[in-house]
Amino acid sequence: MLDKRSGSRLANLWDDAKAEGMSGPELLVYRSNTLGSDKRVTNYGGGNTSSKVWQKDPLTGEDVEVLWVKGSGGDSASIKLDGFATLYMDKLRALKGLYRGVDHEDEMVGYLPHCTFNLNPRAASIDTPLHAFVPKACVDHMHPDAIIAIAAAKDSKAITKEVFGEAIGWLPWKRPGFELGLWLEKFCRENPDAKGVVLESHGLFTWGDTPKECYETTISVINQAIDWFERKSQGKAIFGGEVVKSLDAPARRAIAAKLMPRIRGLISEKSHKLGHFDDQPAVLEFVNSKDLRPLAALGTSCPDHFLRTKIRPLVIEFDPAKPDVDAVIARLADDIAAYRVGYQAYYDSCKHPDSPAIRDPNAVVYLMPGVGMFTFAGDKATARISGEFYVNAINVMRGASTVSSYVGLPAQEAFDIEYWQLEEAKLQRLPKPKALAGQIALVTGGAGGIGRATASRLLREGACVVLADIDEAALAGAHEELSRAYGKDFVRPVRIDVTSEDQVATGFAETAVQFGGIDILVSNAGLASSAPIEETTLALWNKNMDILSTGYFLVSREAFRLFRAQKIGGNVVFVASKNGLAASPNAAAYCTAKAAEIHLARCLALEGAEAQIRVNVVNPDAVLRGSKIWSGEWKEQRAAAYKMSTDDLEEHYRSRSMLKRSVFPEDIAEAIYFFASDMSAKSTGNIVNVDAGNAQSFTR
Ligand code: NAD
Repeated sequence: MLDKRSGSRLANLWDDAKAEGMSGPELLVYRSNTLGSDKRVTNYGGGNTSSKVWQKDPLTGEDVEVLWVKGSGGDSASIKLDGFATLYMDKLRALKGLYRGVDHEDEMVGYLPHCTFNLNPRAASIDTPLHAFVPKACVDHMHPDAIIAIAAAKDSKAITKEVFGEAIGWLPWKRPGFELGLWLEKFCRENPDAKGVVLESHGLFTWGDTPKECYETTISVINQAIDWFERKSQGKAIFGGEVVKSLDAPARRAIAAKLMPRIRGLISEKSHKLGHFDDQPAVLEFVNSKDLRPLAALGTSCPDHFLRTKIRPLVIEFDPAKPDVDAVIARLADDIAAYRVGYQAYYDSCKHPDSPAIRDPNAVVYLMPGVGMFTFAGDKATARISGEFYVNAINVMRGASTVSSYVGLPAQEAFDIEYWQLEEAKLQRLPKPKALAGQIALVTGGAGGIGRATASRLLREGACVVLADIDEAALAGAHEELSRAYGKDFVRPVRIDVTSEDQVATGFAETAVQFGGIDILVSNAGLASSAPIEETTLALWNKNMDILSTGYFLVSREAFRLFRAQKIGGNVVFVASKNGLAASPNAAAYCTAKAAEIHLARCLALEGAEAQIRVNVVNPDAVLRGSKIWSGEWKEQRAAAYKMSTDDLEEHYRSRSMLKRSVFPEDIAEAIYFFASDMSAKSTGNIVNVDAGNAQSFTR
């Protein structure tokens, strides 16, 4: 049975009014976006669409037939015109004359750029011949869960016939490439009335003479499969039935917070991973089921699925009825090591003499009965998408195993795709990761002037950032601005008061669930206050101590706990103040609390060194722009202390500095980035003043 929770039938979303007046390529974009908008039609980045369009040749001015086909990379839901490769159809057809047979099909990929129409720089994908050789104007190749469930069933051919009769054909598993393109062409010539074909262990091809006809065929074929599964699976136990119950949602998250940093630590030896937690009903139904272990062991089937999720997931043994997380933690290193041994064995038994070297042998998907699924990858988007792909795989297993037996792809076929030279070439073409890729930072006071600039600096270098602040409205604004600039996957807001032990613990637990752990703490939340000593109330004194001194202690302690759970080092940067080194008039509470911060940093540098935890301090001074501190009464108090108007303060601080320069939030952020990155890998217990020069605060 397919997952009814996400709604069952697909709606026909084709809108004639919208399509009216669109050119052939524009209709292709419209069709692709409409199909891709529903993940039941195709998974993220999966599948491709094409249209054969007559256009004027820019060289000869003659009308020529051009194949517009989704290029390498990208996603159908958001693809635009520039996401499509364009190729001369006559040249593509001529490639058949160069084809030396299936053993040489990979070399055909090298000819595709020679067929490019109009100098289009978008690279053609390996699926291009599959579209080119289907003799129809419009072709959709989708990965719908409902169809892959048929494609991955033991008797997939018979089921295809039962569901679709003669309308949809069936072809046995074949890796995508030139040969499969020829198979499709042959099928179409021999079955001129067929509307499409199911590819074993892979997906669906459908076609039509017009974009609308093609779209409607795709949707109706998927709906037919959904209908059939629903009828066939009535009254049947899903995955052999439920054998354990889920823990409640807060307990699931608490376990995720505890386990994810430990998993992350054990798999991040070479490069740091980002995590994603998913406990949606479809996942829980699978992890709580009787058939979890045998089905998970079979691995995924559709190539897209296992390229993202690895050949199979790791099942973490756990009984939610007698929850013993410490026992799970005690076994985790062995479980992960055993998975690596299994992956090495898969590599060794399937490799060819010219196979690329083994890649990261760690699991991507971790399934835990009663709790849910953790996925890990080199970046957050990939971790999230890998999870989405495994949910697709669960849907496929649900369908196939309910009506028949589910079959994974044979290990050798899976290996030949995973370690395909063309796949390797794609990986080699990926840009070099940014300096902080894979790193997770938590910035307290992240909604303030210096905090926001710091978050932005770290995000620019590829880090994922948790903005932690007490000011909810400012937090929402900072989150919105930074996720718009750097992408939703990279930024999370968490409201915490750094003076509250509970809230600090909750904020760090949430960080672990959102991203998998932590690498960088920027302790920056703060305030400023000014009063002569006789007028400094105990409340004011305590406020400074609570936020600056105690707050810095609480967040550091929690970060240290997480660092020690991960065992992959860590990095703490305190934003203190020039006033922590140099006395200032009428600010004893603030100056003393800032001095405490600086000394706390030294103590922590000493304690953390053996675990590769570095602790350093950045001391700003007079950062007026962007700072909320300088928009309140502190500004007036400082102006009064120096007997001048508030408008003159910035100039006062500039001219007071040795370098005669103003200091901005971005300047502080740069120093924080230096300490947060490997540029300062060999520095701990240090202080950098960013104050445009102030002899009073020279360190000694
Ligand atoms: P800011 O007021 O713009 O930002 C501080 C942020 O901390 C605010 O968003 C605030 O909501 C948050 N915050 C306050 N109390 C909190 C609490 N209990 N829990 C969580 N968040 C809390 O100020 P800024 O200039 O960006 O200051 C950042 C840090 O730099 C502070 O520690 C400050 O003392 C230090 N500093 C600033 C200057 C300067 O001139 N701006 C100079 C020296 C030191």
